[in-house]
Amino acid sequence: MASLPHSRRLSAVASHLVAAAAPAAAAAAAAAAGKDELPSTGGAAIMRANVQQRAGPKTEADVRVELAAAYRFIDHIGWGDGINNHITASIPGQPDEYLINSYGMGFDEVTASSLVKIDVTGNVLNPGTMGGAVNLAGFNIHGAIHRADPSAICVVHTHEVHTAAVASMKCGFLPGLSQHSLLCGEVAHHPYAPTTGRGGEEECNQMATNLLEAFPARIMLLENHGVVTVGETIADAMFRLWYVTKAAEIQVTTLQSVGLEGAIQVTSEDTLRRMSKGGQFFLSGNVADAEFAHNMRVVDRFNPGYNDL
Ligand SMILES: [Zn+2]
Repeated sequence: MASLPHSRRLSAVASHLVAAAAPAAAAAAAAAAGKDELPSTGGAAIMRANVQQRAGPKTEADVRVELAAAYRFIDHIGWGDGINNHITASIPGQPDEYLINSYGMGFDEVTASSLVKIDVTGNVLNPGTMGGAVNLAGFNIHGAIHRADPSAICVVHTHEVHTAAVASMKCGFLPGLSQHSLLCGEVAHHPYAPTTGRGGEEECNQMATNLLEAFPARIMLLENHGVVTVGETIADAMFRLWYVTKAAEIQVTTLQSVGLEGAIQVTSEDTLRRMSKGGQFFLSGNVADAEFAHNMRVVDRFNPGYNDL
């Protein structure tokens, strides 16, 4: 496709969308029959089809490369926190085993081979090329979520300032403030408690339980702390992080500008429900895959070298 003239590429994309929109009739029929409809029947039908067409399990090597790229992308856009925070992804076919960054490396330095493979009880199975140090808070938070919910293939945790700020607002996350927040759908909250030291492990187990019980929420704001997103793929979890972080930035900017009283919010229950439903497809499908492929191309341009297998 890269060799096609621009106009031809647009035509090819349009043809794809027309073809994929065929199930829209089925969605419209479902809506007419009183079933749960989505906000845009054409777009929703495309998302639904894409979810069904996604690729199956990948190899550990594939996951290592994608995960290293995810670390470097978060660093590239300025959402990292030095050597802290973590992104983890479980091994295909081995939901009790997952990969985590070697503690002490910056997000900009993570490589596929340096990732440490541990199990959900904390045993180091493969120390990677940098010695296998694992941050205890990282293990407590991510291990608890991977243990509690094997469908959470990828767990992303950041301290990005806007999400941390919104997590600490008494008004909480405002779901009707922006299109980004509408698409996030349900966002869980979890009260602050230390994640290490006395009671840290129990606290993280409770955090994982709260997230699981908040399903279909796949995003959780940690009060006075940051955010966690999970996904059935690295792409899903990263795309949710993108949306919740953008929504948080919009919320902080709006409240700084006009305050809570001056903010216009979508309050229609029907619109909130429909957009949340649509977001579930939008944030877990081929759009997420396409966005993550773009993330990897960005890393390839600005910070290559992560794929060292
Ligand atoms: Zn943290």
